Amino acid sequence: MSHVDTFRPGAGELPARDAIPARYRWDLSSICASWDEWNRLYQQLDASINAFTSFQGTLAAGAATLLAAFRAMDDMGALSYRVWYYAALQYDEDQRNNQANARRQQVQILFARQQQASSWFNPELLAIPLERVREWMAADQGLALYRFAVESLFHEQEHVLDESGERLLSYSGRFNSVPQESYSALTTADMRFPTISLASGERVTLTYGQYRALLETNRQQGDRAAAYRSFHQTYADNQNTYAALYNGVLQRDWFHARARGYASTLDAALHGNKIPTSVVENLIAVTRQGVEPLRRYHRLRRRVLALDTYRLFDVFVPLVAHDAKYPYDEVGTWIVDSVAPLGSTYQRRVREAFEGRWIDVFENAGKKSGAYSAPVYGTHPYMLLNYNETLDAVFTLSHEMGHSMHTWLSHEAQPFVYAGYTIFVAEVPSTLSEALFLDLMLERVETSRERAVLLQHAIDSIASTFYTQVMFADFELQAHRLVEQDEPVTADRLNAIYAGLLREYYGNVIDEEEISRLTWARIPHFFSTPYYVYQYATCFASTAKLMQDLRSQDSATRGDGVERYLSLLRAGGSDYPMDLLSRAGVDLSQPDTVRAVASELDMLVGRLESELASA
Ligand SMILES: [Zn+2]
Repeated sequence: MSHVDTFRPGAGELPARDAIPARYRWDLSSICASWDEWNRLYQQLDASINAFTSFQGTLAAGAATLLAAFRAMDDMGALSYRVWYYAALQYDEDQRNNQANARRQQVQILFARQQQASSWFNPELLAIPLERVREWMAADQGLALYRFAVESLFHEQEHVLDESGERLLSYSGRFNSVPQESYSALTTADMRFPTISLASGERVTLTYGQYRALLETNRQQGDRAAAYRSFHQTYADNQNTYAALYNGVLQRDWFHARARGYASTLDAALHGNKIPTSVVENLIAVTRQGVEPLRRYHRLRRRVLALDTYRLFDVFVPLVAHDAKYPYDEVGTWIVDSVAPLGSTYQRRVREAFEGRWIDVFENAGKKSGAYSAPVYGTHPYMLLNYNETLDAVFTLSHEMGHSMHTWLSHEAQPFVYAGYTIFVAEVPSTLSEALFLDLMLERVETSRERAVLLQHAIDSIASTFYTQVMFADFELQAHRLVEQDEPVTADRLNAIYAGLLREYYGNVIDEEEISRLTWARIPHFFSTPYYVYQYATCFASTAKLMQDLRSQDSATRGDGVERYLSLLRAGGSDYPMDLLSRAGVDLSQPDTVRAVASELDMLVGRLESELASA
């Protein structure tokens, strides 16, 4: 079977975009037929933004005007997806395209105006007594649709201050981001990356990318050690500055929590999504009890790599050398096959994504790096990849497909106001999609060697997406508690917390390395988005729990699990994430849910051990 228009990425120069056959490039005509149509939509959005101000001052008049304002806001929102993505996706195809870039910026300017033009809406709605809005919603079916939106807005309101309090807090907006911006300047603009000599005599400058690649591929432990130590030394050299900046983050968070009347910084971070603090505390406590499979994996690695000392710079090298290529044209059918457990309708949709040109597959000159799924309301989602035929690239495709199906099912089932979903559930479908794909691949590949490669991939992703993120959440919580308890925050204190965590999670399985205690200084999330990373871990636990039913031998359990899972996807953002998950059978406040990850890891490490024995 030969395709005239087949294509595979090669080494060397990047192809120009038009050298890649059309079927590997996304077809954006379902968003807009042309720039002419885009112009018309842009004008329409512009006009509806201007028109929206006419609702100001009318909300309290009654159910009818409130409903009309809600609907006008939805129409504006739906339109803005198409106007934004038509320009943004074309810009990402080739970021040297100045015309697309200019139009994309034009939309950003319009969005800023849209925000100003609707900023009166929430305060005006919140000024109406909630009881009255509830009566309106009970009497008016159209308005009843907005019940969750209204209730959650009033819920957030619980910690909003009076006008003078809010004005005072708003003045702090200008310096809230100073610690984070200073961190970013120090680690990018002002960063001096070290250069080291490898055993081969080659000199390497350790940019982030080079450093990471070296730990993942270099088989000389001495090279890895040199890279790790020099890289971390650059942070050690400025550790007191990093500690002072992080103290700025902690003090800011505590200032805002206290100003708004929260008991702790964690309470403040979780209130919006109505997540009980016990979820994070439970996550950390249960994970600490479930570190044995993680240690088992590292003991296995130390043995297989035949290393006398085994340190944090040894945890990324592959156990089995493997350079198989996965041509895109073959992988598509595997991805479609892998979702069979989710039913034929779901499967047909995944096929449609491949055949309907939703995916921009290969790298070309000027294209944005990385991968994403773009939730374009009003049509189907689009996916950007830089597919390079590695195993990582295949799993990335499966991951983005999970996001896209979530978007599609949610957009189809929900009204605009609930079509989007929060990060707290977003990584469930993507990781579940990867888990299904792993199951299929383990069945299909023929040698123990290949199975070992797959198992290591899955295990590493549990180690990095679950255990490491929980450890990070653990660190953030302990650090925030220092300021909450009026304790000083110094580099020594932060180093001591981190060193303690490394012992807690790895025991004596990974040999201690003095400089590892500084790791906190190189994690940008700590400085930019406090209390964020735990959500990767809760998503991962939810997936592990859901997969237990999906893998069940009992067909009724399986069928029920699939139905609950698909309902979760269709529910979009129509309720609080904890409620959505609990209807899908996942209770994150229960230790069992978190334990599902440790059991899965244990099962995978056991399999890896036996595959390696026969490889
Ligand atoms: Zn994702």
